[in-house]
Amino acid sequence: MGKNQGKETLNITRRTLLKGSAALMLTACTSKKAVEETAAKETTVDNITENQPLIQNPEAVFDTSLKVVNTHHRIHCHGSCMLKAYVKNGRLVNLTSMGDIPRENSKEKDEDLFMRQRRACPRGLSEKKRLYAPNRIKYPMKQTKERGDITGFVRISWEEAAKTVASYLKEMQERQKELGYLPIFATGNSPAKYLGTTLDIYGHHSAGNQMDAMYAALGPKVQGNPAIDILNSKLIIIWSTDTRTTQPHLTFFLTKAKEAGIPIVVVDSRFTDTAATYSTGIGKVPGFIAVRPGTDSAMLAAMAYVLYKKKLYNEKFLKEYTFGFFPNDTVTSNSNIENPVTKTLYKGQTFTVPAGESFAEYLESLEKQYKDYKGVLNWAASLTGTTAEIIENLALEYCKASAAAFFCGWTTGGAQRTNNGLYYSWFLIALAAMTGNISRRGGGFGMIAPSDGYKIKIGSNPPLTDAKKYGSIKFSIFSLPEVILTGRDARTAEQLRDDVKLLNNIDLGNDPRLHIEMVIKGEGSGDFFTQKANINRKIEAFKKVKYVVCYEQQMSTTAKYSDIILPAAMNLEQTFFTYGQMNCELDVAHKVSEPLYDCKLDREITRLICKELGIELKNYTDEEIMKAQWEKAEFPKGYAEINPKRTMPDFDTIMQMGEYQLPTPLDKTYIDTMNYKPGEFPTDTGRINFYSPYMAMRQRAQHPVYGPRYIPSKEGYETIQKKEKSRKGVAYGLQFITPHVIHRAHSTFDTVPLLQDTYDNYVEISDADAKTRGIKTGNIVYVYNDYGCIKLPALVSSRPMPGVIVINEGRIYNPSSEETYTAYFDVTGKGEYKEIVTPVDLGACVSTLTVDMESGAGDPVTHQFTNKSGGFAASGNLCEISIKKPN
Ligand code: SF4
Repeated sequence: MGKNQGKETLNITRRTLLKGSAALMLTACTSKKAVEETAAKETTVDNITENQPLIQNPEAVFDTSLKVVNTHHRIHCHGSCMLKAYVKNGRLVNLTSMGDIPRENSKEKDEDLFMRQRRACPRGLSEKKRLYAPNRIKYPMKQTKERGDITGFVRISWEEAAKTVASYLKEMQERQKELGYLPIFATGNSPAKYLGTTLDIYGHHSAGNQMDAMYAALGPKVQGNPAIDILNSKLIIIWSTDTRTTQPHLTFFLTKAKEAGIPIVVVDSRFTDTAATYSTGIGKVPGFIAVRPGTDSAMLAAMAYVLYKKKLYNEKFLKEYTFGFFPNDTVTSNSNIENPVTKTLYKGQTFTVPAGESFAEYLESLEKQYKDYKGVLNWAASLTGTTAEIIENLALEYCKASAAAFFCGWTTGGAQRTNNGLYYSWFLIALAAMTGNISRRGGGFGMIAPSDGYKIKIGSNPPLTDAKKYGSIKFSIFSLPEVILTGRDARTAEQLRDDVKLLNNIDLGNDPRLHIEMVIKGEGSGDFFTQKANINRKIEAFKKVKYVVCYEQQMSTTAKYSDIILPAAMNLEQTFFTYGQMNCELDVAHKVSEPLYDCKLDREITRLICKELGIELKNYTDEEIMKAQWEKAEFPKGYAEINPKRTMPDFDTIMQMGEYQLPTPLDKTYIDTMNYKPGEFPTDTGRINFYSPYMAMRQRAQHPVYGPRYIPSKEGYETIQKKEKSRKGVAYGLQFITPHVIHRAHSTFDTVPLLQDTYDNYVEISDADAKTRGIKTGNIVYVYNDYGCIKLPALVSSRPMPGVIVINEGRIYNPSSEETYTAYFDVTGKGEYKEIVTPVDLGACVSTLTVDMESGAGDPVTHQFTNKSGGFAASGNLCEISIKKPN
């Protein structure tokens, strides 16, 4: 065959077909033209054969009627990976990702740091299975039996569903006349928000502790260094995050960093995939350092102590930029923000760190308590489970690197989701401030900023109605059962009353109570049971709620315990703008299918209910909404200097392209903390705080401590050491951690058999702990504590450190109808702890074992700025494990 022959006749030889078959098949799906081009390239490049064409008539082999839709995966990890959807007759037949299809110069483009491909992980590629899952909620349903019994659900029409929900809402409106607000806990795009002030939450399970630390130390909305900036680092410390499973889209940077020879150290309670893939170690510091859950801040305290005692801190930076490091530190604030409670400007106010409260005094106090330099290191070593030498060497390497990054993902990792996670996150900031790494290229304090810095900002959605949309009274999500049972969260009566007066202009009186008589879970809101805490207790509390309504896609636990389920459309059934967290891109998630069955977009569901209430909402199409957003879209100022060729695309272009990146070179990557001059951080003091006067004033921290300190968790390693008994009277001997997995995004995908069959679910236990309990891999075991009991197979491995077991989060609760366990908790919310018979959870949802326990400094006032004030302790809590069923 001559060199040009392939271009003319599309003759594909045996060898070239085999060589490029997968790619060719995919490309063929795209179009006949692409098939021809690919075939031509293959035959031209490697033309060795016998001139025996295998495919004379490609139309007979390749289905050229397939439509290819470029879309993006919008899910919890926020990677927004690119997906190519192959659609035939309105039905999605396949999904592939960017990078699956060879392109011209694909090697170079695949490795391009600045026009990056975000390639889907197993979750994105399984979206088809979720879209067509047999157990997807297809129709509006109402419960006809007891809540929780799925056999009681019967199909109803949309008309009946809308009328029923509207009737509940009308009943709540009557209660509003007495209470001054609607006793409805409503999340998402709820119709209740057009009727009056509802109830909603503050607090965040993933990032609340970190957000409180950042607000106190750095001020509202100050971001960490972006992920790409680790390529400017000389040392990367990945602390308590398994990036390979939690945020796979960020691993590209870690790969590039490792290739560039940047040393990487991983600190975690188990040897993660990320540790296995990336850790290199540095000097005398090993690549992986195991630390007991909840003791991370002891290690960070000891590292800070080493730098302090050896005078390796950046004194000039500390004096210019920070507050509360040195004893008696006094500053007159130059901050431009106002106190959110008193509304007075901070500028001009003078702050002095109280005696004994400076960070230096804290570090000195460690020495007093533990005798000497060695004693402090030994204290941290014995608590964490590592050695004094490793802690000291890590501190010295961290200080020595001219730019060193803490890399913890978006949320400063699992160590942040502990009872003392606020202080762990604050310690990361403290160490980064002591070394100047906090505002340095290649530095960073753990939290990874969602973007490189420049992105097109779209406008807001067009209003659906002229009717007023009301706000909400906020309560702590970690006190949901308490609020249902007693009307109170962890705040004092005075604090609750003051907050509601300040934020909602409603006076709840001398005995303030928040009544929850109806719950509406909006589409996209996390499951109140599986994804939160303390399922058994919450189920008991929900019995007191009169009506539960749920917009949902799969039979989540909230759906199961609802009276009405409203089937919501999935992301693949709508078109919308979205952002990823890896780059400065704006993405279009194109729909690949119309909403299936009787499912509707959530705004359409709300519109139907509102109609029954006499409120007309506009029925916009996706495109109308996007056009309105695009009309107000803004191109980032300053980007033209970086790349004058990139200008604002027009609407049709962005819709067609599907994504628009504004790449930033490494030396121009946006480092938020570098924007603030000394004294002008948006905190109360204008400084980076080692002590927060605002937090001290608000008195919302769960511990009366307003700077980075090691505070033992309410239940944690020290509890085990002291052999303390729980309320039930059990001295639990293990701590559990609850990492994410690659095959679920919280409980999303837990209903996809392909993924759940591919990846086993198990509790991972160390060899040592398994041996003392007689457990072998494959044994079916019970894991239990005061709050409940789960049942699942065991995997004995050397990955978790002794004393720690791993229960992957996100399984859907599945109560046994046969096996029971006697839990022990307060059913009334009045401190009346007693034995409660609960079902053993065969789903092995770790939220059966977690407890509603506020940590951090949850505050609805702070929440206005962070959207996430108040943290959660999912990790490091106590349990036991046995082959024999416990009572
Ligand atoms: S889950 Fe995250 S990493 Fe996986 S495909 Fe979706 S966006 Fe990408």
